[in-house]
Amino acid sequence: MKKLCVFPGDGIGPEVMAEGLAVLKTIEQVAGKQMFTTESALLGGSSYDVHGVPMTDQAMALAESSDAVLLGAVGGPKWDALPFAVRPERALLALRKNLGLFANIRPAMVYAPLIDASPLRRELVEGIDIMVLRELTGGIYFGEPRGVSMIDGVETGINTEIYTRPEIERAARMAFELARKRRNHVTSVDKANVLESTELWRKVVSEVHAKEFPDVTLVHMLVDNCAMQLIRWPKQFDVIVTTNLFGDILTDEASMITGSIGMLPSASLGGKVGMYEPIHGSAPDIAGKGLANPLATILSVAMMLKYSFDMPGEAALIDSAVEKVLTGGWRTADIFREGPGVTKVGTVEMGEKVRQAILNSTR
Ligand code: NAD
Repeated sequence: MKKLCVFPGDGIGPEVMAEGLAVLKTIEQVAGKQMFTTESALLGGSSYDVHGVPMTDQAMALAESSDAVLLGAVGGPKWDALPFAVRPERALLALRKNLGLFANIRPAMVYAPLIDASPLRRELVEGIDIMVLRELTGGIYFGEPRGVSMIDGVETGINTEIYTRPEIERAARMAFELARKRRNHVTSVDKANVLESTELWRKVVSEVHAKEFPDVTLVHMLVDNCAMQLIRWPKQFDVIVTTNLFGDILTDEASMITGSIGMLPSASLGGKVGMYEPIHGSAPDIAGKGLANPLATILSVAMMLKYSFDMPGEAALIDSAVEKVLTGGWRTADIFREGPGVTKVGTVEMGEKVRQAILNSTR
């Protein structure tokens, strides 16, 4: 029996998490046995409201003692004015850091029935399949010194971009290993012409490549060029490996190429316990309305089965059920375009369609 720590979070988090967990139940139903126990805890703004902190020590201990963590999303305007140290997003950073999750991997692929939901032309997006590895526990989001203070009588905000050789080496290694299971191509993205921290990034990635992965093709690309190339010709990319800040931005850009941020899952790996979450935020504009797309969370459950529990067959069952539901014309509002055979559904109905497709495919 595997123990899951579940953080539904804020906004649409609890709505999409309910569908993700229901799909997991269906996987157990198909297997004919219970395989998972779940324990939930508050995280983010909902934790702050009850406990005065975005994550309690007990919640952290629960995550650390579990076999995997499933997370919805945190944050929202209600908590935007809080001091930085207790903002909901701080819980995410602490979780990643404490669990040692140094690599966030995010697939960006286009489902054939959704090609027309992409803002890019069909011939640019058809068949794209990109995996972005974002370094997650280093760089400017954690570097010291940081803060806002008076320096020489001038109010000054400071953040520090910092990377060490071991941090770069482990991210590079994971990217090359991922590429070997895909199309054997890695694009390492940096700003080596301006930032010394990424000058080191480029040097270390090249060294890891030459010593351990000469069979994989490596291309270095400046981040501004990469932002442009993702729109100009996204099919050139297989695995992209980059820093925390650049990865944060590029993955949102890549998500839009695929049509909607509501479709993309992610896995944070590298520590003892993997963490799985949709890449979107808490979407306060649609929270509580039953409009959220639960597919990113459902696909995050599939990633969890694949990467934490070595259950590729069950993961594939979920992936293909999602594809079938989309082929059947079912769409939440974010991916809906008026057309023949296309039906708009809400969060719960979308979850039900996926569960039904899983059951149908195993009958
Ligand atoms: P967001 O991802 O929450 O929303 C951006 C847009 O995408 C919104 O229009 C939203 O309605 C839409 N959207 C997002 N997820 C969707 C889904 N599943 N289905 C349909 N539409 C969806 O980003 P934001 O508006 O910049 O941030 C809102 C809050 O979320 C902020 O407090 C932010 O800090 C937080 N946030 C949290 C995480 C996380 O928990 N990992 C990530 C990003 C942002």
